[in-house]
Amino acid sequence: MRYIGAHVSIAGGIENAPLRAREIGATAFALFTKNQRQWKAPALTQTTIDAFASNCKTCGFDPQHILPHDSYLINLGSPDPEKLDRSRRAFIDEMQRTELLGLTCLNFHPGSHLRKISEEQCLETIADSVNAALDATTKVTAVLENTAGQGSNLGHSFEQLAFVIEKIHDKTRIGVCLDTCHLFAAGYDLRTEEAVAAMFSLFDEAIGLDYLKGMHLNDAKLGLDSRRDRHESIGKGKVGLEGFAAIMQHPASTEIPLILETPQPEIWDEEISLLHSLESG
Ligand SMILES: [Zn+2]
Ligand SMILES: [Zn+2]
Repeated sequence: MRYIGAHVSIAGGIENAPLRAREIGATAFALFTKNQRQWKAPALTQTTIDAFASNCKTCGFDPQHILPHDSYLINLGSPDPEKLDRSRRAFIDEMQRTELLGLTCLNFHPGSHLRKISEEQCLETIADSVNAALDATTKVTAVLENTAGQGSNLGHSFEQLAFVIEKIHDKTRIGVCLDTCHLFAAGYDLRTEEAVAAMFSLFDEAIGLDYLKGMHLNDAKLGLDSRRDRHESIGKGKVGLEGFAAIMQHPASTEIPLILETPQPEIWDEEISLLHSLESG
């Protein structure tokens, strides 16, 4: 049985996230470590930390299958020194919050050059930002998410992700989360078993499957190589069920958290059951 869940809300307190995940029959989940639309958040109290840990335990969630996501405000490759500094401080804060919650990974979007610096400069800036965050923490792994390649967002090719990883000093604390909608939007076909196998072997050659720490399972509203980030419910988009069946049966998806970020939370429980049914072929 694979570990499947969704990105659940932290409304009313971060300790509610595991309870919401259990309600939809999840065995993994994602969450924000704070309100994702604000730069600053009050520090986590010991009471919250304890309640979160206790709810995770009661609901049967292992820290390895919980994948927090950083704020969308953060741009670790920003060409603007002030915004870069603000992003780096916010990212370190989120890495520390992740550590305080007893979790092992923080998923983040690499960054955007905003057409003001070259791709290479931006990727180097992202790597410097991650190295600083790893130095400021002791245990958490920073998990790069592949992007759809919309606008000036980097991280849409395995080569770009590999470029960043290459520059990280502590390779034991860097990983990748593959988002299926982003893969498809960036030109990696996932519609057939052959296409999925080819994508995973390209990933293995460019980066290495050992670096894969999680996946976001989203179907795509738009066609292959659209370069636009538009999620769709599983089986209702352009990827389709054959592709998701191949992902669910591939050895690469066995131990990692598989997280829905699909647009209809009211059917997440059905999507989780559907994905489990695809595991056996
Ligand atoms: Zn995602
Ligand atoms: Zn997305």
